[in-house]
Amino acid sequence: MKNLVRKLDSVDFLKMDRRTFMKAVGALGATVFLNTYKTEIVSALELEETKLIWLHGSECTGCSISLLNAGNPDIAQALTKLNVNLAYHETLLAQQGIFVDGKLANTSELNSEILLEELIEEGNYILVVEGSIPNGPNGSGKYLMLGNRTFKEILGAAAKNANAIVAVGACAAYGGITSADSDVAKDTDYRGVAFSKKDSKGGMLQELGIDKPVINIPGCPAHPDWVLLTLGAVILGKINIPEDLPDVLDQYGRPKVFYPPDHTVHENCPRRGFYDRGEFDDQVGGEKCLWKLGCKAPYAHADCAIRKWNGSVSMCTQAGGPCIACVEPDFPDMARPLYVEAEDKGVLLGANIDTISKVAVGAAAVTAGVHAVRRMKGE
Ligand code: SF4
Ligand code: SF4
Repeated sequence: MKNLVRKLDSVDFLKMDRRTFMKAVGALGATVFLNTYKTEIVSALELEETKLIWLHGSECTGCSISLLNAGNPDIAQALTKLNVNLAYHETLLAQQGIFVDGKLANTSELNSEILLEELIEEGNYILVVEGSIPNGPNGSGKYLMLGNRTFKEILGAAAKNANAIVAVGACAAYGGITSADSDVAKDTDYRGVAFSKKDSKGGMLQELGIDKPVINIPGCPAHPDWVLLTLGAVILGKINIPEDLPDVLDQYGRPKVFYPPDHTVHENCPRRGFYDRGEFDDQVGGEKCLWKLGCKAPYAHADCAIRKWNGSVSMCTQAGGPCIACVEPDFPDMARPLYVEAEDKGVLLGANIDTISKVAVGAAAVTAGVHAVRRMKGE
């Protein structure tokens, strides 16, 4: 990595075209990108302050926690480097509710509702949404209220005035855990900002009649690099919205550089050698392939196994947890039951896992064949 940084030191990031820039941030972590280019970027561009409004819908706040876990730079350093004013983030801001110390708080310095209204009115901000948006009951959106307004209504107002919209995490992107199939799913009717599961016309913005592009950064939670580097690319004007989006995003609105359409977590898994030899763990705590314990990595399009998590230290399968394909639009339903082998889905274009394990030596060849077919098809 040190060599890579040294090499890139001589590269002028600012002169890179969008395509090269996106390739570079795909290869780099946020640490390297922000630390190496911070001074040059800020002084060369005299970066104007970018305002960020970060809304929280129905969620566990895990994506904010993931971002707060970003180590070097941490979230505060990263925002400073990109000259971002995190103007509104419900779980981080100091403002409180209507009453503070028993007294009516009717200024934006004290009252978060007034602050948000003023920020939306001023406009000129990037809107980040974390968490899904309930449409229920009966299309009212009343399953999530902030003060006397539905979250659905607040999202609509904030989206209308935003310069760019980024949906962070599986819930904001596609509905995620909140929209999992259940007896109440129809009544709660949780939506992503622009999608409902795989349906690109079922998102809350479409429901509200708002036609604006959205960048999805799914994951449960989203990786801090995916969030910071995407925001960095938008702030630096390396992704022009909406012109560049068809080229930069896949069919589910994900930046292809972090969620490659032709690459799954399985391909670079540290346990991949065991898979190729047909050696599988049948209980947790082992060192072999986790397929039979329910690993869904062959369906998960993300760079987790290359980028790694927690400061590039480890990732799900490396730590012994089967991948649950948390980046996919139909997560979690497509991955359920989470820790049970996906018997009905062939890993390799319909091939059966047991057949593959019986002809272990051939497995690598089959995989290589799949890549070759993909290359031939130009996928
Ligand atoms: S543990 Fe999962 S990702 Fe790793 S080799 Fe096995 S199936 Fe693939
Ligand atoms: S390895 Fe799988 S479950 Fe883990 S973060 Fe990546 S896509 Fe999600």
